[in-house]
Amino acid sequence: MRVAIIGGGAAGLMCGAILAEAGLNATIFDGNEKLGKKLYITGKGRCNLTNLCEPKEFLDNVVNGKKFLQSAINKFSSFDTYSFFEDNGLKLKLERGQRVFPESDKASDVTKTLEKLNKKNKILLNALVDKVTKQKSGDKIAFIVKTKSGEFEFDKVIVATGGKSYPLTGSTGDGYNIAKAFGHKIVSPKPALTAIELKDKYASEIQGLSLKNVALHAEFLDEKEKSKNANKAESSAKTASLSFQGEMMFTDKGITGPIVLSMSSMINRAKEVKLWLDFKPALSKEQLDNRLLREFEENKNKNISYIIHGLLPKNFVDVFMAKAEILPNKKVNSITKEERIRIIDTLKKFDLNYKNLYPLESGIVTSGGVNLDELNPKSCESKLHKGLYFIGEVIDADALTGGFNIQIALSTAYICACDIIKLQQEGK
Ligand SMILES: Cc1cc2nc3c(=O)[nH]c(=O)nc-3n(C[C@H](O)[C@H](O)[C@H](O)COP(=O)(O)OP(=O)(O)OC[C@H]3O[C@@H](n4cnc5c(N)ncnc54)[C@H](O)[C@@H]3O)c2cc1C
Repeated sequence: MRVAIIGGGAAGLMCGAILAEAGLNATIFDGNEKLGKKLYITGKGRCNLTNLCEPKEFLDNVVNGKKFLQSAINKFSSFDTYSFFEDNGLKLKLERGQRVFPESDKASDVTKTLEKLNKKNKILLNALVDKVTKQKSGDKIAFIVKTKSGEFEFDKVIVATGGKSYPLTGSTGDGYNIAKAFGHKIVSPKPALTAIELKDKYASEIQGLSLKNVALHAEFLDEKEKSKNANKAESSAKTASLSFQGEMMFTDKGITGPIVLSMSSMINRAKEVKLWLDFKPALSKEQLDNRLLREFEENKNKNISYIIHGLLPKNFVDVFMAKAEILPNKKVNSITKEERIRIIDTLKKFDLNYKNLYPLESGIVTSGGVNLDELNPKSCESKLHKGLYFIGEVIDADALTGGFNIQIALSTAYICACDIIKLQQEGK
């Protein structure tokens, strides 16, 4: 059986490795001069290969494609990934949040391991695929893969071209055009795991300021998104209130950091969204009021900004006071009850004026891609064209940070390879 894999990233290389192990040699096309260019920059060069958790917990971290991925993740889980790489000589280690990294802290070692397993495959580098077509060859259907150096005929074609983010790594969204040419619908690609731009002008002034243990909340203003996310909330505790708690940072144009990246993945398909920060998620309004009353009593003659210093980072106090509409040098003993309540309300609900997400190219992953309704969840084969498969980030599936996205690439690659091996064994 002649098998083409378009894309030598995490998904393409994994698929090639499983096929080669079964004695079924494939041809891998990659537009780059080397394999795994995106893998190389993952996990800040350390590659967070997977997240060692049970499939149920894994799927809770999937933003789009939860149901579709059930089969793939159950068939090839993060535990399978762990043993697969260790069995093939790559020592791994477990870090905070069940994140798995190579012991060497080198993403290049993941690529090297996969490259080694693809030795028997034919690897064509600098081989950008321009087009894939289908034609009748005798009584059989064949796919024609076109590159600048010629046309190649195959029985099966696996599209593993990745998404559209970080295009310098070679992932430029070509897979969407291949899919469209075969009549597949593409769910409009959107940036995911990216920073958020705000309309608020103060962001640039406090650029670099980081906030710890805050909660970022989102509310959808369009009804369609509201109901969609209410459904998500039912199936995942993590998305229940659409809030993420942890660390964030101001940038020249808005905000970034772990909770912002997660939030971006949840709001990228919404038309209208309202964002706000809770600076004290662990405290109720009543608890905050008691604390303020106590501190007011102890610091009657101080400026109100002194009290706020104790609650927020120093560089944020002026921005906060402006939002609460209280002069920073107002004496504590002249703060009215209304003003005290306004301080508490602003601490618990500090509105951020959402503008948009940072561009698609800067997202860690692309949300959107080949419509999952048109793919078989057991194999990732196209329901429209037998013999055509889509795996990895090119499909409409994405997850939060923590090693989940590479695992999606590996699991979809695995079920695709298994399907092709089975068909080969059955002589189909
Ligand atoms: C900065 C950064 C850090 C990340 N860190 C992590 C992490 O630590 N953990 C995690 O789980 N995920 C991480 N991700 C996400 C993860 O890298 C991707 O989800 C994953 O690599 C997708 O694998 P893929 O094989 O589907 O696509 P890719 O890895 O993007 O591979 C696609 C390949 O296809 C090739 N290609 C594209 N078009 C063509 C064409 N027309 N012809 C031939 N070849 C083509 C490209 O050259 C590329 O090599 C990170 C992403 C980025 C950008």
